[in-house]
Amino acid sequence: MKIIIFGPQGSGKGTQAELIARHHGWSYISTGDIFRYHLKNQTALGKKVDKYVSSGLLAPDELTNEIVKDRIFQPDCVSGFVLDGYPRNLAQLEFLNKIAKIDFALAIELSDEEAIKRLADRWACKCGLSYHLLHNPPKEPGICDKCGLPLFRRDDDKPEAIKKRLEIFHQETEPLFAVYNKSGIWHQVNGDQPINEVYRQIDDAIHHHLG
Ligand code: ADP
Ligand code: ADP
Ligand code: ZN
Repeated sequence: MKIIIFGPQGSGKGTQAELIARHHGWSYISTGDIFRYHLKNQTALGKKVDKYVSSGLLAPDELTNEIVKDRIFQPDCVSGFVLDGYPRNLAQLEFLNKIAKIDFALAIELSDEEAIKRLADRWACKCGLSYHLLHNPPKEPGICDKCGLPLFRRDDDKPEAIKKRLEIFHQETEPLFAVYNKSGIWHQVNGDQPINEVYRQIDDAIHHHLG
């Protein structure tokens, strides 16, 4: 099963994508995590995208498309994957259509106001998990439950960068919803509910779609 999960920054895409992938034995793919890995390790790719990622702008499509193409053809993606953070514009969607047949696409809805509030208290881990001081705290303060690494605040989770990322989301990514809606593989859930309730509704939708 190949799934895409959409939603504004802070809506809980990463949280839900990881849960779904783990539950079903699919791979969780976050383009943002892949870019942050390259930045942190100062790879050639990391140097190329630094200025974009640090300021909350989209990285060039050619680079992003290649990363996704490499990733989804890895052996662990054979049984399925959940894509978080891709595609984000029409050019990426068209590229993805050429290399994969997506089974299901869903969006988590949340107001910008609520999203901004959540991101103010987001703590991230290198492994891709994210925590929230109030809504999803780690068992041990500052430490990831899954891998034991120290949690960090993302550089781009500052008000200015968040506003810019939300703007780009509304302008470039939201228009893609209509495309998936037309192809009959579309579902939307209300993200302003507790994490386990959002998860239950997404999982229901997936099972319903699987038939
Ligand atoms: P995204 O990947 O869409 O940017 P995250 O999954 O990183 O969002 O979630 C953003 C922040 O909100 C994190 O701190 C996360 O722990 C928290 N969060 C996720 N889902 C919910 C929810 N349903 N209710 C409250 N907080 C949530
Ligand atoms: P956000 O919370 O802003 O959605 P992500 O963790 O998904 O953050 O991505 C972090 C950064 O990585 C983005 O601001 C952008 O610079 C880059 N990035 C991630 N996915 C893409 C994509 N599909 N196309 C272009 N740039 C991307
Ligand atoms: Zn971790």
